[in-house]
Parts: sequence; structure tokens; C-alpha cells
Amino acid sequence: MAKNHHVVFKKRPGVNGEPAEDNFGYEECDYPSDPNTGEVLLKTLYLSIDPAMRCRMNPETGVTYIGPFQIGDCIGGFGGVGLVVKSANSAFQEGDVVSAVFNWQWTKFFLGTPGELFPLQKIDSSLVNGHISLYLSILSMTSGLTSYIGVKEKGHITQGANQTMVVSGAAGACGSLAGQIGKLEGCSRVVGICGSEEKCSFLTEELSFDSAINYKTQDVSSELQKLCPSGVDVYFDNVGGDLSNTVIKQMNTNSHVILCGQIAVYNKDVPYPPPIPDDIQRMITDKNITRDRYLVLNYQDKFESGMKQLVEWTVQGKIKVRETIEEGLENAGKAFVSMMKGGNIGKQLVRVAYS
Ligand code: NDP
Repeated sequence: MAKNHHVVFKKRPGVNGEPAEDNFGYEECDYPSDPNTGEVLLKTLYLSIDPAMRCRMNPETGVTYIGPFQIGDCIGGFGGVGLVVKSANSAFQEGDVVSAVFNWQWTKFFLGTPGELFPLQKIDSSLVNGHISLYLSILSMTSGLTSYIGVKEKGHITQGANQTMVVSGAAGACGSLAGQIGKLEGCSRVVGICGSEEKCSFLTEELSFDSAINYKTQDVSSELQKLCPSGVDVYFDNVGGDLSNTVIKQMNTNSHVILCGQIAVYNKDVPYPPPIPDDIQRMITDKNITRDRYLVLNYQDKFESGMKQLVEWTVQGKIKVRETIEEGLENAGKAFVSMMKGGNIGKQLVRVAYS
């Protein structure tokens, strides 16, 4: 019988604590029994590694839509891609390649019940030229759909309107796609903010960003003044905190923040979205800047059309993706900790098995 392993949640980072590798444990566990009616036995091939997991690591998640991890439980992550090993569900057959956008277990083999809580779907690997990890790095809820729907619903971009877009967390999964989508949707200038020279070169040399700022070594405020001489019209915010306050100060009247994430404050135990300073809030009000909370989960009716558009752009070579792949389920915790510190370019994934 095949051996089985899983990743369990071992230890909370504690209030305002940074996640560490010893928060996770890699353990042998039972190989699942045969599926009961409605279930499928799955083999994990790839796991999606997502910042939102951080909020589940302490008892207070700061949000209402997901609960905390329990110590000793197997990690239930976000997306995954895998193979159906055995099926007792008429919608799936042995050998199907499948993906789910949430509740994929950090386990080599597990039983899943496809449905609302585990939205398992067959994937068409020919759409991505056999490169099935693209279902997590471009086509998933926490990558391309977040970027595409965020830009479309909250960006208010008009072709030919000469708008300038700024993206923070720009070399990550959502940011790298958001900037490219902003350009495709009609922004005349897209500036990315990220944490290394290598990431800046990736944005400007491999993707369609016009320029990039390394927030760790450059003065973001003066760089923005140089690179966005007409101010900022659209800000895709993955980061929050001081960095975002600096960007908001340079935003135009009637401009738009796409409030995607606030990773700079995820290690602080505050409710989401975290409070912003009074002077920034005043500026937002005085300049009529929109900054509504954005949660991709609230747009499930737009997933199908979003996927269609993302597949089309990918096949046409209009959007490019980078993946940072950590090998082995035993390294999933390490991959999460690394991503939270900026170790990834593009989407952070874990490859659990090749086939
Ligand atoms: P990324 O691939 O962007 O990885 C996280 C990146 O955040 C790191 O690579 C790092 O890059 C950057 N980062 C970490 N700490 C800081 C900091 N203190 N200041 C500035 N940058 C920092 O992750 P995702 O693309 O998966 O997620 C991006 C954001 O989108 C997150 O905030 C996430 O929660 C949010 N999100 C929101 C969704 C929604 O529905 N609204 C859905 C999915 C994701 P660097 O080297 O540049 O520092």
C-alpha cells in the first residue's frame, strides 16, 4: 500500500508573531480507505501557497469568512491540483486531473467530497499545454481571478483615458498579473513596487510594466513623483501599511484603490482591513478616492467568464507568469514562510508529485 503523509498545524505564531517553519509538522498518516458514495480519492500534485493562511494561524482570524486552524489538524489550504485515484462520484473518473480553489488538504492522498465546501473541477490540461500548475498560478481564485476581477470591478479603467496604475506586491502572484491586466485593459503607464532588484527587472524586462521601484532600497515617494508625473489613477494594493499610505498621498481626485490585500500588516493581529491613519482617510474622503473592501469570493458568478479571458490571454501570450516551485510536501511550511518574507517571484507553489 502507498505510504501517506500530511502537514499538520503544530504551533501558533502568537500575537503579532511571524510565522515560522516549526508552526508546521510533516507526519506519516494513514492511507485513505476506499471512497464512499459521492467521494473521490485524490493524489496531490501541486499546492497553492497563499498569504491568507496567515490569518488562520491565530485564534482570532480578523475576518468572518474563515476560521482558525486547530492545533494537530491537517492543514486545509486554498487551491490544489491533483489526480483522481479512485472515484465513487459519477462526475469524476480515475485518472482525471482536477483542481479545487479552496480546502485542498496538505496531504499526499486524501478523500474529498466534491461540493460547495470543496469545489472540485476537472481541468482541461490541453488548455494550458499540459502545464497544469498554471491552474494555480494564473487560472485560480487566488491568482488570476483575484487580479482580473479586482481590476475590472474596482479599477474603473477606460481605454484611451491615459491612466496611470501603481501595483504594490507587484512581483507576486496577484500583483504580477494585475499590472499586466491593467495594461491590457488600457492603462497607459503601469509602475510596480516590489522588494528586490531581481523582481524589478522581472517586471520591466519580462512583463509589460513600464517601471519598477524597489521599496527596500529606494525612496518610494520621490520615485513615484518621477515615474507618475500626472499622479496615480489606479492603485492595486496588495500590501497596505506605510507603503500604501505613501502611494495614496500621490493619488488623483476621483481615483481608485483596488484593496486586494494588506500583507505588510498580516503579522499584526488586527481586524481586516486594518485601520488607516486619520490623515490618509481624510485625503481619501477629500479627493473622492474609492477604496472599498474587495474579496474575490464575493464574485463567484464572474469566475467562468474571468477564466475564459485569462485562458485567451495566456494562449495568445499576452500575459506571462512566473512560478516559484518548492519541491516536496515536507517543504510546504517552509514555502509558506519564505513567501511571506518575499522569497517568491510570481506564484508560490509546492510540487508534491509529478504525476
Ligand atoms: P504574493 O505572491 O504577492 O506573495 C507575497 C509577497 O508580499 C511577497 O513575495 C513579498 O514581496 C510581499 N511582502 C511581504 N511582506 C511585505 C511587506 N511588509 N511589505 C511589502 N511587501 C511585502 O502573494 P499573493 O499574490 O498570493 O497575494 C497578494 C495579496 O493579495 C495578499 O495581500 C493576499 O492576501 C491578497 N489576496 C486577496 C484576495 C482577495 O480576494 N482580495 C485573494 C487572494 C489574495 P516583496 O519582495 O515585494 O516584499
